[in-house]
Amino acid sequence: MSKVNQHQRAAKAWEVLIKVAEKKDFVRYKELGDKIGIHHRVVRFVLAVIQDYCLENNLPPLTILIGDENGMPGKGFTAWDRDNINQGKEEVYNYNWSSLQNPFRFALKGESEEDLITTLLEKPEKSKEVYQKVKARGMAQIIFRKALLKAYKSRCAICGLSYDIVLQAAHIIPWSKCNLGQKMDVCNGLLLCANHHCLFDKGHIKIDSDYNLIINPKLKQITNLDKNSTRNFNNQKIRLPKNNLWWPNSKYLASHRETKPTS
Ligand SMILES: [Zn+2]
Repeated sequence: MSKVNQHQRAAKAWEVLIKVAEKKDFVRYKELGDKIGIHHRVVRFVLAVIQDYCLENNLPPLTILIGDENGMPGKGFTAWDRDNINQGKEEVYNYNWSSLQNPFRFALKGESEEDLITTLLEKPEKSKEVYQKVKARGMAQIIFRKALLKAYKSRCAICGLSYDIVLQAAHIIPWSKCNLGQKMDVCNGLLLCANHHCLFDKGHIKIDSDYNLIINPKLKQITNLDKNSTRNFNNQKIRLPKNNLWWPNSKYLASHRETKPTS
């Protein structure tokens, strides 16, 4: 049995929901299920994908527009205070949804998130094509991070921390400055814990051409932990992925070394 592509369903549901929002309307589970061709009992799995996306990207709670006969969203809806549903709906109605790309549109023709991650890892040179399929920044970031989690085996490239929830996808050439081919290029990425990501972005941690860490010597070391998580890594090699196809690009690292440390 082939795996259900929830993003494909979410792409269709997104289109329906933004139309409902434009009409300042409300839709029932069965109606939405019929429109996207699935049983109403499995609609909630699709809504979970959309709800998570809205939460992660600070968007109004679009899934507030689906529910029961009384206009109340189902049990899985957690994106807004249930005692104040009308205010949540107003937020959704007033938002300009048509200004956004459908974040799941890459899946409309049946391609899955997993397919895109595989392309990013097996054919990094195709990262521009993948980005052009995804386009929505929030979704591109989610898929890029999942590819880096695989490449770095879910460990911070600096300290080895393995808690999934604090591991982030860092860009070597920042998102705002990189070209389309670099936005999802695993060689322009590093999997870092939140602390090391921040220190890397602010230029306090750099990486030399042999993949050794350079810690800003002026970075204050007040506690032992400060020292353990920064100065002690100076001159140590980062944890490189097993496959050298995924190693950070040396030109990108050289460009990052130009970053002036900021507080
Ligand atoms: Zn770390």
